[in-house]
Amino acid sequence: MKQLQKANIDEFKVHFRGSVLLPGDAGYNEVRQIWNAMIDRRPGLIARCTSPEDVVQAVRFARKHNLLVSIRGGGHNIAGNAVCDDCLMIDLSLMKGVKVDPKARRATVEPGCTLADFDMATQVHGLATPLGINSTTGVAGLTLGGGFGWLSRKYGMTVDNLLSAEVVTADGSQVRTSATENDDLFWGLRGGGGNFGIVTSFEFKLHPVGPNVLSGLIVFPLDQTKSVLTQFARFTKTMPDELNVWAILRKAPPLPFLPANVHGKEVVVLALLYAGDPAEGEKLIKPLRGFGTAHGEYIGVQPYTAWQKAFDPLLTPGARNYWKSHNLSQLSEGAIDTIIECAGTLPSPQCEIFIGTMGGQTARVSAEAMAYSSRDANYALNFHGRWESANDDERCIAWARNFFAKSRPFASSGAYINFLTQDETDRVAFAYGATYSRLVELKKKYDPTNFFRMNQNIKPT
Ligand SMILES: Cc1cc2nc3c(=O)[nH]c(=O)nc-3n(C[C@H](O)[C@H](O)[C@H](O)COP(=O)(O)OP(=O)(O)OC[C@H]3O[C@@H](n4cnc5c(N)ncnc54)[C@H](O)[C@@H]3O)c2cc1C
Repeated sequence: MKQLQKANIDEFKVHFRGSVLLPGDAGYNEVRQIWNAMIDRRPGLIARCTSPEDVVQAVRFARKHNLLVSIRGGGHNIAGNAVCDDCLMIDLSLMKGVKVDPKARRATVEPGCTLADFDMATQVHGLATPLGINSTTGVAGLTLGGGFGWLSRKYGMTVDNLLSAEVVTADGSQVRTSATENDDLFWGLRGGGGNFGIVTSFEFKLHPVGPNVLSGLIVFPLDQTKSVLTQFARFTKTMPDELNVWAILRKAPPLPFLPANVHGKEVVVLALLYAGDPAEGEKLIKPLRGFGTAHGEYIGVQPYTAWQKAFDPLLTPGARNYWKSHNLSQLSEGAIDTIIECAGTLPSPQCEIFIGTMGGQTARVSAEAMAYSSRDANYALNFHGRWESANDDERCIAWARNFFAKSRPFASSGAYINFLTQDETDRVAFAYGATYSRLVELKKKYDPTNFFRMNQNIKPT
């Protein structure tokens, strides 16, 4: 950015309706901060877009002055690619419109929306689409990487529900993509991350959900993990698509339904949602209670929007985070034993092991149907290193890396690009697997100079 003159920036402002922030400006520090406090970068310029036309202007300005760009949606990505040093940060977080057409069961969503923004608008009509499990996550980054959550077994990955998108490409043109318009780009957007352009609008298919759903938690002591996870592995293989159950191992937060002497102790938690008639769900979840002798449970019929926020207090922005993740097609005995060892050595009260369950509808799409290809991933096994002080960086990062390495023999192919950290650029080709070579061809066509490279980068060569 050093080469930019004040005159250049003034000229940019003339054609840009949003606001422009420079280091030292009020708000600059707030906007450059993202969810993961490990990332502390200082863009030379922040363009806070308010419309697709602003995005076009920002792209053209960056091209003219040969600037590196980063794109910020919800700012949640663990790798921190939303922000870069000395670059132009294209901030979309002010573009928060959601339009719902309840009759057609469709929603058009701007790229600054969080999951909470989306759910709030669609749930007014008792509708939803599969998104993630932490409501402050951005819809844009989540969707572009694939996207999965409580509803995915019934309704597929988030990308399986994407109907069209408006994109600003690397040459600054505005393009509409769908199954019938620029379909190659549409194929690449559905999993290809931010590699092919800046999405200014997403159109999603919606489904009837709730507005109240059976959901909640059952908490078991850590010493019952073998029994709980062995039965969890069997149960999740055959459960109906409407039901989703995830497992989390961590130190127990001070949840009011747990006895005080359990707070801070290692536990294994089953978290569940039933996307159907709650009475039917009650019958189906009964066996889960028999997986062990629970410390306590909190299960009930509650608003879907409330359940979508249930994990927010544990996943607030501002902590230091380092994650590692494997795809698993099955949860084998070896994997369970490694998970038990890992949970016995949690290096901070906030570190956790997450087993996110997919399968169902996510597995019924061909691996080549779109850029996201991990259709055999029935689970995502995540080691979430999370802590407060930089003094603990080494210890907590080592814990995540160690158990990532130990559990590698039990992993299946591919990886979820939305869970890759900044030091995993060498896993991008592996993450995509079967679709990677086609993605490289697409990158050559739509972004031959690798203008969009602050991402899990698909290089055009
Ligand atoms: C606490 C937590 C919980 C999570 N839970 C889930 C989950 O349940 N399910 C799941 O699938 N994922 C989950 N994720 C991963 C999440 O999907 C990614 O972090 C995702 O990248 C977040 O999107 P964002 O818009 O907030 O990110 P940002 O950091 O703003 O963006 C990430 C990257 O996406 C690209 N990008 C963003 N917006 C655009 C755009 N409009 N056009 C083009 N490129 C763009 C850019 O390359 C950018 O660097 C979780 C992450 C966290 C930290």
